[in-house]
Amino acid sequence: MIRNFLFHRVHHQRDPLWDPMDPILFEKCIVHIKKKYEVRVFEELMSSGDYKKKSDFATIMFDDGYKDNIDTALPILEKHNVKATFYIVTNCIEKNIPTWTHILEYCFQNFKPDHINLDFDFLPEELRNVEFDEITTPLVYARQLKPQLKKINHFKRVLVLKEIQKITKIDNLPKLMMNWDDIKKLISKGHYVGSHTVNHFMLGTVDDENIIAKELKESREIIYSKLGFYPRTISYPVGSYNEATITLSQKLGYQFGLAVKQDIFNPNKHSKFEIPRIELYNERWFKTKLRISHILEKIKFLIRYRK
Ligand SMILES: [Zn+2]
Repeated sequence: MIRNFLFHRVHHQRDPLWDPMDPILFEKCIVHIKKKYEVRVFEELMSSGDYKKKSDFATIMFDDGYKDNIDTALPILEKHNVKATFYIVTNCIEKNIPTWTHILEYCFQNFKPDHINLDFDFLPEELRNVEFDEITTPLVYARQLKPQLKKINHFKRVLVLKEIQKITKIDNLPKLMMNWDDIKKLISKGHYVGSHTVNHFMLGTVDDENIIAKELKESREIIYSKLGFYPRTISYPVGSYNEATITLSQKLGYQFGLAVKQDIFNPNKHSKFEIPRIELYNERWFKTKLRISHILEKIKFLIRYRK
């Protein structure tokens, strides 16, 4: 069994839409995880097969490839002698642009209009034509829109995102990602790198198998051309995948597929292409501790069961 812990940004700056983890909390997590479990690099642990014999393994993972991973998280990992795997979005690394989930947030944080008109019939009516005021600010609106956008089909989402970028006229996106030299530095220090696709598309919402295959194959090839090895693992963006994603990942040479399911990986229960991860957020320490021990999920399950 393995507890795969997933992180994204680690930074002291606060963000009302998607808050990076505070470095102090991140260090607390690393110290606590190291004390309670045997921390290994995911890919090495899977090759060794040790995870079948013991139940107290943990791994540390980062999705997306943010610059703060190397500037802020790496010194903490090194201080505690912990190795991790970084799953990168190759187009975001190449162009130094954030993922679409981040761009959406950025557009609304930097946009001060009095209304928005997104005339798409597949969006809930209350989100289509909205006047902003002190209660419904652009930020409040963005928080309501984001989960809706995650539910819809990929092509529809692309249309909405294009329209938002057009309306908000945000083109100078923040430079937040690592570059290839940063990634080479991580590898030279014993960390591992895997794929998180080319464009961070939510693969489970893509109907066209050619697009899924392209995302999986191209990111693999770019990593090979830049780093000299094929990534063994695909981390599905936003934990979204479908049957086609699993079949194609296997066919194209990946050995493991990572989901986000707030569960402990149990080889008797989960396939190697639906490996769950426990995502940790910038929350109060007591809640983070409950997530790490998996007690929070048990509590949620009991509450659901009682209803
Ligand atoms: Zn991601």
